[in-house]
Amino acid sequence: MLEQNNISSNSMISFEQIAPRWSKRLQHFPPPLFSANNISWGLQIAFADTCVVGEAHGFSGEYVQECSECRQIGFELVSSYFTRSAERMHRNIELFTLHWNKCHYHHLLDNTKKNRRRRQQQKQKRKELVIQPEEEGKDTLPIIPITTVMTS
Ligand SMILES: [Zn+2]
Repeated sequence: MLEQNNISSNSMISFEQIAPRWSKRLQHFPPPLFSANNISWGLQIAFADTCVVGEAHGFSGEYVQECSECRQIGFELVSSYFTRSAERMHRNIELFTLHWNKCHYHHLLDNTKKNRRRRQQQKQKRKELVIQPEEEGKDTLPIIPITTVMTS
């Protein structure tokens, strides 16, 4: 016997909390076939980091390597989206919500904001690495930091 109601009323995280952006988009599923939203969302749901499961993981596609269940549910959600079956979509959202609560419950706490900030810092670092000229004075890439211009 399942006691899901007890669990959900006490401590379950809702789909709205797990993936707020997609939750809003999928409230009236499916969107009109030839609408801009349908085209844009269809593109986003096809990628691991921007799909429903990706949003839950802080817009990261790392789960593809790390959690086979998330990966599987991700595929199911994509396929529900393109078959435009509201029933299938809702069933998979429910499955995903249960899986998230079972396996990733604690991720949510440090999910969105903290992870996003960390990722942005990493991105920023990568950018700095790319922009840095190999050697100062070398005439390959004459990029002068703004701060230098302002102080000299
Ligand atoms: Zn998972």
